Amino acid sequence: MNQRSTRQLAATYEVLAASTDHPTAEQMLDRVRRVIPRVSLGTVYRNLDKLRNQGRLRTVWLGGGVAHYDAVLEPHDHFVCEACGSVLDLSTSRGGAARGRPRDALRRRGYVVRWQTTAVYGVCPACAAARHAGQRQLEA
Ligand SMILES: [Zn+2]
Repeated sequence: MNQRSTRQLAATYEVLAASTDHPTAEQMLDRVRRVIPRVSLGTVYRNLDKLRNQGRLRTVWLGGGVAHYDAVLEPHDHFVCEACGSVLDLSTSRGGAARGRPRDALRRRGYVVRWQTTAVYGVCPACAAARHAGQRQLEA
């Protein structure tokens, strides 16, 4: 790997590790461009793929058919705001017997399970407040 691609790969990882909002590839492109202005979307995709193959990030599917990228490798759940699309990490309750069950059932049936995440969907406090304010305006 030449020096330029090494630098682009490192920058991509650093940008993701500094992001807590589970960016998409397009969002990653904007952020990586702040460090390396002439990087292309194709390069960002390739580097995200490389990092995933190296086990340094996870792809998270949260609905909407777009991959989100997460540098937090510990198993954890997500809250997804259906109004603004923001994603929040939820700490996983460890040792919960119920959590293990679907995984174990799948394994018994021959599925290879790598990891498990649950997404909770709803409205974040900021969007809930905005809705509430909007409703009051309608009522007034
Ligand atoms: Zn996450």
